[in-house]
Amino acid sequence: MGHQAQRADINAVVGGLLRDLAFAQTSRQRMFGYKRAAAVVLALDRSLADLVRGDGTLPKIPGIGPASTRVILEVLDTGGSPTVDEALRRSDKTADIERRRALRGNFLSRAEVLRILRDPAFAGPDADDYLGDLQMHSEWSDGAATLGEIIEACMSRGYAYAAVTDHSHGLPIAGGMSMARALEQGQAIDRLNHDYRGRFRLIRGIEANIGSDGRLDLSAEEASHSELVLAAPHSKLRRDDDQTERLVTATRHPHVHILAHPRGRISGTRPGINADWDAVFQAAAGEGVAVEIDGDPARQDLDFALAHRALAAGCVFALDSDAHTTSQLRYADTALAHARLAGIPPERIINCWPIDRLLTWLRQRSK
Ligand SMILES: [Zn+2]
Repeated sequence: MGHQAQRADINAVVGGLLRDLAFAQTSRQRMFGYKRAAAVVLALDRSLADLVRGDGTLPKIPGIGPASTRVILEVLDTGGSPTVDEALRRSDKTADIERRRALRGNFLSRAEVLRILRDPAFAGPDADDYLGDLQMHSEWSDGAATLGEIIEACMSRGYAYAAVTDHSHGLPIAGGMSMARALEQGQAIDRLNHDYRGRFRLIRGIEANIGSDGRLDLSAEEASHSELVLAAPHSKLRRDDDQTERLVTATRHPHVHILAHPRGRISGTRPGINADWDAVFQAAAGEGVAVEIDGDPARQDLDFALAHRALAAGCVFALDSDAHTTSQLRYADTALAHARLAGIPPERIINCWPIDRLLTWLRQRSK
């Protein structure tokens, strides 16, 4: 099922080939040009197959020049690109390009995400089932938006609630908040919840960092000030050794609600954690910790294949945008698409629960 969807994802194929072409360039300017074209293609709302005109030409797409257009037309015509093949033959960086290629598995383009959301054949959640987003970053850490802007943007997407999950103090590189700042933010959120009472509920969340030994950068006492605690790995994400124990230990922390972007992979760049995922999912299910599908297009972590295994292990899921700007709230769509491909019923997705049920679940976990 999922593999078929991948094969039809022309924009993902083209985006990948344009990235290959970028890394085969010797001129930095041309490298950036192809990288930009790849990013544009991956973010298009429509499939290139639908954009091509009857005479075989493409409309002008900002950010895509003639050389990239040729690659696109080749792929639409033949499924591959002789231009890219030739560039790779001449390049002395093929080993690096092959390594990057292997790190693009199960990534969906934006057009494919939207197609999956429209396709009634999938049993998973649809946009109407999705009541709120549980990972995002504000100006209090490494995000751009104010809390008020976040509320308004979430309401315009039809959400009933959202969690702001800025980084905790263990991740200063991402603007991690001191405990004093975190408490101050909590008071700001409480004031907003008073103003929006009956219309929207902002959840006081925090994204804690999982150390290499599986321990968090938050004590139980510190974590208890947040209504929702995400635990996520941000280091040692390029190693081959098994890190099952690290993640299993994190799920045992009494205040953790969600294991966020569990692999820590980045498309074409970073493989993320190597672990016995069935053991991790079993531990999460046993502890009552939700596993996340992070919808950031570069993360897509878990992807549908791993999510399907987590479903079989009995896990509940969180589907989140990991937005750092309000326009990135649409990344939740990517998470929804993976959940649909994995066939996760809305009942097993905590973002599909009404706020009272969600808050009860959060409180039970952190009692
Ligand atoms: Zn993170």
